[in-house]
Formats: sequence, C-alpha cells, structure tokens
Amino acid sequence: MEIVPGITQLKIPIPNNPLGNLNAYLLKGKDGYIMVDVGWPTQKTLDILIAKLAEINLVPQDIKSIFITHAHPDHMGLADKFRELYGAKLMLHQSEAPSAAPDRWQVDDLIWKWLLLNGMPESDVDILKQRQWGQHQFTWRVEPDILLKGDERIELESSYLDVLFTPGHSRGHLCLYDPKNKVLIAGDHMLPIITPSISLYPRSAANPLGSYLNSLRSIRNLDVDVVLPSHQNVYHNFNERLDQLIRHHEVRASELIEAMGSASKTAYQIMLDMQWVGASSEVVLGKGLEPIQQMSACAEALAHLEFLRLEGIVKRTVTDDLALFICNEQNPNLHFA
Ligand SMILES: [Zn+2]
Repeated sequence: MEIVPGITQLKIPIPNNPLGNLNAYLLKGKDGYIMVDVGWPTQKTLDILIAKLAEINLVPQDIKSIFITHAHPDHMGLADKFRELYGAKLMLHQSEAPSAAPDRWQVDDLIWKWLLLNGMPESDVDILKQRQWGQHQFTWRVEPDILLKGDERIELESSYLDVLFTPGHSRGHLCLYDPKNKVLIAGDHMLPIITPSISLYPRSAANPLGSYLNSLRSIRNLDVDVVLPSHQNVYHNFNERLDQLIRHHEVRASELIEAMGSASKTAYQIMLDMQWVGASSEVVLGKGLEPIQQMSACAEALAHLEFLRLEGIVKRTVTDDLALFICNEQNPNLHFA
C-alpha cells in the first residue's frame, strides 16, 4: 500500500510476539529502492517479505539499501541475510553500531551481577540463568556498510527525507521526516498505542530516559500530518501523541517516587510495588510478575531512577554490593515537557 507518494508500507509478521507486525517501509529513492527495517531473523519472515515485494512487482535485488531505525531484532533481524543474498547496503546510526555487534546481546555474568546489585534475590537470578534464551535462525548482528550521523538527506523521486537522530528507545535510534508531504517515519520512537520501552541495562547508554525526552522535544516543532510507526497503525495526532508520551513518563516518575517512600530501597524493591502491564496485557504489581518480566521492569525503573538521580531528585549509594536509592524530596516538581 502506497501511503504517500514514494512511500509504501509492508506489514511483516513477527513470530510469537504480541506486537504482531513490523511495519517496514519501502522508499522509491533516486538510485533504486530503500527499505526501512526488515524484520525478524527467520527464513519464514524472509519468504513473507519476498512474497510482499512480489505483490508490488519487485524482486529483492531491487532493494539497493536498508535503512535501520535501530538495532533490535524485529527491525534489523534479516538485514545481514538480505545483504548476503541480494547485496543491499546496510545503513545505521554510528552510535547504534555497537548494539549491532555480536557480543552486545549476550546474557552473561554482567547481567547477573547487575540484577544482584539492584536487589533481585539470588534464587530468581538462578531461575533466569537456567532459562533458554531465544536463539535466532540467522546471525543478524553485523557491521553496517554506511554509518549515519543523523544529518543526512535521502532523495526520493519527487521529495526527500531528512534523517533525524532520536536516541532513547535505543542509543542510536533514527526517524525520517518528509517535510513536503509532512510525513514522519517514526520507528519505535513514537508508537500510537503502546509506549516504547525506555530501559537501563548494563550495556545501555547513560541516561536513556533523558535522551528520550530530549528526542521528543527535538521533533516537537515539526509539521507532521501522518506518522508511520514501526508497529501498530498509521496515525495523525502527532502533537497530541508526543505530549501523551512525555506525560506518561511524568506519571511513571511520580508512581516510582510514591513506591520509594522515604526509605532506602533497591530498584527491585521499588519495582515490586509499582504497577506493570503483564504478559496478557493485564495490570499487575511487580510482585506478581515472572522473573523475566521483573528483569525488564527493573531496567525500566532504573531508567527513571537514573534520570531522577541526574535531576538531583534521587540519591544512589552502594552498600554491601547493593545499589540503594533514596528520594531527596517527597514532592518534586515533575514537569518534563
Ligand atoms: Zn520494534
């Protein structure tokens, strides 16, 4: 489906994932087609992608380059295989390149030490150690061919797209903006219904929530009629959605401060008393989550805690191999807009 002149959307299913699809976008560039994101690293996904291209009378060799919004497997998974088979060049933001490196996604000692430091009980860390961590069918972590800075322009047949650097959801996330047609290809930076996860893991960039809020503010003044997200549906209320996303993090920060109370607590303890969306979209306290979900919840709580620490609202100390957080003010002014 051609959404605006020169931009076609392809919905690529993500296996066993509640998000359903990745929305890839096909751009009719001056020197051939550019595909924005490619999908999960399996043969089945590749077959579906090729079938979708055939529906619009294209073969994979017509894709001359792949623009990756960020190095997560649902976006970049097929990039390496696609390049190997069909020769497309792979573009990624320069600060995202480490996230595409092979050692980046290891579930290893660094993760276990980090969970223990942040208060997860050893018995739960042991459960996570024994877990089968997902194996992908194809290797998907790669050296990109072209490293972007975030100030490039991609020429289409009758318009152009500006590359925008929007870190937060990942350290080198990119969006694309077409000022002529007032279109934003938003990646996972701004999704229409769910809020993108903003997490602090041991290999994350410093202060991801601060970066995310800055990235939202940095695009606030764009004139946007149509937002093309990486998941869920195309939407039009760009300004309203942007404000909702900022507001969401203000609310989460105040919930976190409430869960902290006046005592010194670990991120794990704070997470237990906060509400989270569980596996089947129900809202539950952190106590009711499985250890794997508690790990993600800890990473999201830590992104907020680190942001609040840098704002001077929260203090962090390490005692007896435990990182403890305490609130400096009980009613801080949480206005992130
Ligand atoms: Zn995604």
